[in-house]
Amino acid sequence: MEPAGAPPQPCAPAREAEEPPGSPALPVEEPQARQPAEAPPEEGAPPGRERCRRGAGPQGPGGRAVRDRGRRAPGRRGGEEGGRTGRRPRVTVDSSKAKTSLEALKISLRQLRWREFPFGRRLPCDIYWHGVSFHDNDIFSGQVNKFPGMTEMVRKITLSRAVRTMQDLFPLEYNFYPRSWILPEEFPLFVAEVRMMKDSDPSWKPTFIVKPDGGCQGDGIYLIKDPSDIRLTGSVQSRLAVVQEYICKPLLVDKLKFDIRLYVLLKSLEPLEIYIAKDGLSRFCTEPYQEPTLKNLHQVFMHLTNYSLNIHSGNFIHSDSVNTGSKRTFSSILCRLSSRGADVKKLWSDIIALVIKTIIALTPELKVYYQSDIPAGKPGPTCFQILGFDILLMKNLKPMLLEVNANPSMRIEHEQELSPGVFENVPSPVDEEVKVAVIRDTLRLVDPQKKKRKDVQCQTLEHVSEGSEELLGAGPADRPEYDTTKSPEAGLPSLCLKQVFPKYAKQFNYLRLVDRVAALFIRFLGVKGTTKLGPTGFRTFIRNCKLSNSNFSMASVDILYIDITRRWNSMGIEHKESGMCLQAFVEAFFCLAQKKYKSLPLHEQVASLIDFCEYQLAALDERRLVCGRGIVERRSAVVPCQTDGLHLTPAAHNPS
Ligand code: ADP
Repeated sequence: MEPAGAPPQPCAPAREAEEPPGSPALPVEEPQARQPAEAPPEEGAPPGRERCRRGAGPQGPGGRAVRDRGRRAPGRRGGEEGGRTGRRPRVTVDSSKAKTSLEALKISLRQLRWREFPFGRRLPCDIYWHGVSFHDNDIFSGQVNKFPGMTEMVRKITLSRAVRTMQDLFPLEYNFYPRSWILPEEFPLFVAEVRMMKDSDPSWKPTFIVKPDGGCQGDGIYLIKDPSDIRLTGSVQSRLAVVQEYICKPLLVDKLKFDIRLYVLLKSLEPLEIYIAKDGLSRFCTEPYQEPTLKNLHQVFMHLTNYSLNIHSGNFIHSDSVNTGSKRTFSSILCRLSSRGADVKKLWSDIIALVIKTIIALTPELKVYYQSDIPAGKPGPTCFQILGFDILLMKNLKPMLLEVNANPSMRIEHEQELSPGVFENVPSPVDEEVKVAVIRDTLRLVDPQKKKRKDVQCQTLEHVSEGSEELLGAGPADRPEYDTTKSPEAGLPSLCLKQVFPKYAKQFNYLRLVDRVAALFIRFLGVKGTTKLGPTGFRTFIRNCKLSNSNFSMASVDILYIDITRRWNSMGIEHKESGMCLQAFVEAFFCLAQKKYKSLPLHEQVASLIDFCEYQLAALDERRLVCGRGIVERRSAVVPCQTDGLHLTPAAHNPS
């Protein structure tokens, strides 16, 4: 995890984020996954004015001048930016909360020739750039570069839980995350499982890494050889941690352990859109690696790759070369591996699969947060977010997920030690190249003007096709196109972010079961703005989906609700609301699925129950619709034929 104010990262001049021809950093092979069964008008203020807007400046204390400018007819002042002159209005970006990403953002905006509002703006902006979270400011329109709930979702415990749920359903597909236990609640389980594994394989000599839940930059992390070495003192909050199997055989370069920071853009949750940056950073340890022994367990410069720790080692190297030093580009590592004959295409496809699967694990709960903060039908912004994925390569080149950062450092300067203990910030060209490209290309992808142009283009095409059938066969040259030569994009390099989802959706959609469970959960939440299901909501879910019967009475339903909810609410995590959280609902849902569809593998039980519930709810909706129309006499005839039309296949189920 990285805090918003993460320290600057050191420089190793990098190859451009833009890919040179033939470079191994380009993902060429498709990721492998098991195949499933199937502006407002511009204010017109000249640049530089925005500085005055905060105080009683030109707009006066009530901001009248600003409002007046907002009313001015397009084509006068507005024409300077768009209006009748035919020039596009410039995209407006509020950077007042950008914090440590401000410098990289400013450069990106200059390159795009967009308008920055460093002190905010009274009128809405197109984009709000937040440094910490969605809640940095109250936003009701436009786009924000953070999703509500993302910071909570990528905490060590929450991420481990989300991945664990997927591991329960698809153990082979989710074997890229080390086996983990949540402390303190799973300490007895941890002890028991380790003992069992040791009994079954006496040659197994594991090492574990303990990571405090709220920690970052290696803070509080330690390695142990035996469960009894875990420090279990302090308050519940301070003891919250994840203990994880330590990857003892990482890939080494120059005898050093290193990890990879990859930038991933979650452009949209619904529909799911994911992009990966073609290049990232590799952060190196500063002591030659040795497999963990009782003697070297405490040597952080050997075992932990955090920049914030290794910068304090006398061996830290700021290098001018991309393939030496303590921080290098990921593409330089790939070049090196490729020259040794490694299959880097396969590596890339494994990394893409890891990223998509991890995001699939995170989306169900993110959707719960999203509907709570931005209820459907209410005005609210849309969101996107740059995530930092930390990945460790094993000796056999298998990528393993270490963690996901909601606020990856976007600083473009690094610390230099002038004299012992005295540090100075100096510009870092490598950080600037990689990070500015990621921010700039994220903005290009979410460009609201582009979306508007696309919509207009679609409408124009529809209009044309309605009026003149023969134009349908016309080639691209005949279609109305926007003049891209006038666009600031004309001079920019091609995007450093590559779409991986929905591009590879077909290979991964079968994994999205918990998403469908979350959709059921959200349907029964009832009160807008809540994230927890009350007992009545749970009962309604059971009734509407016809899940209770003589073997499973409503009294048993209540007991299931109380048991699971109480356990989840006693786990030491903050609970502002009472009721059943999504993970508790997922657990209850899995229980019901196992009860109803005995003897199938878990993912098939869950898929069958989801199909069954969706079928029941669609039928219910249809009945309600028919009742609403007052066509009561057609009710029995309509339901079966409509469900056919919806392509709903009721799961074969045992009426248990
Ligand atoms: P933090 O948020 O404090 O940086 P991380 O989970 O990133 O926590 O762990 C810090 C460092 O510890 C990583 O950069 C990596 O070098 C090392 N590390 C973490 N987990 C493992 C693991 N399971 N096996 C081997 N090394 C690990």
